[in-house]
Amino acid sequence: MSGFEAFGFNTLIDQKLPVQLLTSLLSKGTIPHALLFVGPNGVGKLTAAGIFAMACNCAGKKDYLLPNGEITANDSMDLHYTADPCGRCRSCRKILSGNHPDIISIKPSGSLIKIGQIRTLCNTLALKPYEAKNRFVIIAGAHAMNKEAGNALLKMLEEPPNRTVFILTALQKSDLLPTILSRCQQIMFNPVSCECIESFLEKNYDFNNGERKIYSKMADGSLSKAQQMAQGPGGPRYWLIRRNWLIDEACALSSRPIGSLLALAEKLSKKKDAITEVLDVIVTWLRDLVIHKYYPEKIVNSDLSDKIKKISLQESVESLVSKIEAVRTAQRKIDANANLRLTLEIMLMRLAQL
Ligand SMILES: [Zn+2]
Repeated sequence: MSGFEAFGFNTLIDQKLPVQLLTSLLSKGTIPHALLFVGPNGVGKLTAAGIFAMACNCAGKKDYLLPNGEITANDSMDLHYTADPCGRCRSCRKILSGNHPDIISIKPSGSLIKIGQIRTLCNTLALKPYEAKNRFVIIAGAHAMNKEAGNALLKMLEEPPNRTVFILTALQKSDLLPTILSRCQQIMFNPVSCECIESFLEKNYDFNNGERKIYSKMADGSLSKAQQMAQGPGGPRYWLIRRNWLIDEACALSSRPIGSLLALAEKLSKKKDAITEVLDVIVTWLRDLVIHKYYPEKIVNSDLSDKIKKISLQESVESLVSKIEAVRTAQRKIDANANLRLTLEIMLMRLAQL
């Protein structure tokens, strides 16, 4: 793969429609003041925002798309933009290294984008861009703006500063103020298909077929989740080893003394960042135990099918469903900032059916 391909729109996997829409804006030279990229986590929304910002500022002498779809070597940049940033000019290199003064990134600090962050942005935007032809403000997780921050942003969207493009990303439209929605051109990103995640894993990691299937199903449409799983601290199979350990622990819960449940809760609570992943593994395991009763070919942990078959026969659907509910309840409480260790203790006791 040449350097050029490594940062163009063709690095986005399984996002044909959004790429078509963005390249068509570039070829027409009609860059909106505000764009909203909507879609699940880890599908390439921020990558697309970065490439778009590069394309709108690239000064490389390359072929340019004309509005009629023809390609010209003309580098008159006022009328149209390249759909393939060069990656070598000063502007491209600064954006790639994250050091461009006119590409401003905002993301939640903690769980919120706070009014202070938007006020600081407002002060910055009152000044002219330093050097960019098109300054970009990329707001990741715009759904995390509280009402105050949202209203402050709205004022800027209503009177957009010169040569400034806003790109907001969000999980779903309904999380944003309708007044903000109406100011943005919306572009929908899809979950990445299992097939595309599998072929991505095949190109980049040394997995067998079965492993690729498990990783792609667990990634649930998110390419970056698949990547994180495959880049575990102990190598690509670290995730599988940890999954096996977690499933063994989950299976042994009901035969253990309560002291060891409490110890497990404490151990898990020490890695707060990994909790969602832990709960995902447990829920998928429990779901496999239910699914195996009806569609054994549809389980996710297909390498453990013998074990799943054996345990599935021993447990009723009602009991499994109530265990799944126990894990979901724990996730909701953790999302709402409940005490992590206590929440896990209660969840493990319910899983052990004490
Ligand atoms: Zn360039």
